[in-house]
Amino acid sequence: MKMKVYNSLTHNVEDLVPLADNTIRLYTCGPTVYNFAHIGNFRAYMFEDILRRTIQFNSMKIRQVMNLTDVDDKTIRGANAAGVELTQYTKTYKDAFFADLKKLNIQSAEVYPAATDHIPEMIDLVSKLIEKGVAYKSDDGSVYFSVTKFPQYGQLAHIDFDNQRTGARCASDEYDKENVGDFALWKAWEESDGPVAWDSPWGKGRPGWHIECSAMAMKYLGETFDLHTGGIDNLFPHHENEIAQAQAATGKQFVKTWMHCAHLRVNGEKMSKSLGNFFTLRDLLEKGYTGREIRYVLVNAHYRQGLNFAFTALEDARKSLERIDTCVDQLEAKSSGATPDAQVPEFAVKALEDFTAAVNDDLNTPKAFAAVFELVRASNAAIATLSPSEAGAIINVFRRMDEVLGVIFFEKKEKEEVPEEIIAILNERAAARAAKNWAESDRLRDELAAKGWIVKDSRDGQSVTKK
Ligand code: AMP
Ligand code: ZN
Repeated sequence: MKMKVYNSLTHNVEDLVPLADNTIRLYTCGPTVYNFAHIGNFRAYMFEDILRRTIQFNSMKIRQVMNLTDVDDKTIRGANAAGVELTQYTKTYKDAFFADLKKLNIQSAEVYPAATDHIPEMIDLVSKLIEKGVAYKSDDGSVYFSVTKFPQYGQLAHIDFDNQRTGARCASDEYDKENVGDFALWKAWEESDGPVAWDSPWGKGRPGWHIECSAMAMKYLGETFDLHTGGIDNLFPHHENEIAQAQAATGKQFVKTWMHCAHLRVNGEKMSKSLGNFFTLRDLLEKGYTGREIRYVLVNAHYRQGLNFAFTALEDARKSLERIDTCVDQLEAKSSGATPDAQVPEFAVKALEDFTAAVNDDLNTPKAFAAVFELVRASNAAIATLSPSEAGAIINVFRRMDEVLGVIFFEKKEKEEVPEEIIAILNERAAARAAKNWAESDRLRDELAAKGWIVKDSRDGQSVTKK
């Protein structure tokens, strides 16, 4: 059974077949490291994680590149406001990003190129576009891509821009379809850039956002590669511009398949920094939810469906995971280390078939979870009559499913050694809570957080996990 995915370029569900070496070459637009990523961003990275895991589940190899945007309007503004060097400013958020990926059990990409390490590659690409006559230098020393010189412009967004090609310029990296115009490849230095600048044939300046992805994708994956993804907001103008830059330079198709995930929303609006309606991973961990529960919520929805963020979903995730855990615990107790024989019970074979069909059908994770819960239900019903090796065989089916989902065994039994110092603070906090001294209880929670521990309150009392 072949893996199929929805291609935003063709609007068709297509077989995902590697162009070469049984390897899917995948470029995923990564974070702009000017702040902590919010869980809307993680929805995109989670979809990409399920994608790479499903590719491997289907015995294909993967080479994934995720860029780190460490120079743009926002990073420069942040560094200048904080009065620190750009590299120092972005390092904090790069480190936090990698720590967050671990917390969510997101597999590492093969390469994480940072934009600031690839300025020469970007300058080369811009030079090539000028040579080809599709880019020009403006009076202020910036370089623009001329959309009228690239007739296929609009192929990904499926929009005929004929009536809009006014020759107007747009210096900002982000704009909408109404403002389509020539976009910046290279931005001339301005006062507000402070010390951030590189020399180029066009004078001092810095690259535009879009050129970074075309240059780094081609460097690490070749001029034509299999798959490129991002959130749906990246489709236009970012990905459209990536195609224009790459294809105008090489004359070859840039990417065969494009995939985009729908947004994580809050009360119907996109979760975003600019709207201020966001939660970072840290926010949710501090509220006592685990990486595993957050992962469950993000994986459980189909990537092309909008997902509305709600705390009730996290509560539901906790219950669903408990059901799975109870079942797996029972199976583990029953199998008691027996070697699983080839005798996989019929219902488990069927569940794995359903699961495989679901993930191979454009990553249908809700259906895949339905297969997981069918296996839970059938295993619970059969537990009394299962032999130890049959129980072991079912656990192996859960393990196989978890190669894609990454939630069943992740953090399942994570018991942490809690240091005495932390236990002492917990005891103090329990006393404060018993005395209904909530201010003191909150102060102690913050003290625990500062020491790297997150406390969770439930009917059974307090529990802590490491950040
Ligand atoms: P940014 O750091 O804004 O460039 O975004 C990084 C990635 O997160 C991109 O692939 C975006 O499309 C994606 N993204 C941003 N906000 C959301 C959201 N609310 N839901 C899903 N993906 C998002
Ligand atoms: Zn990108």
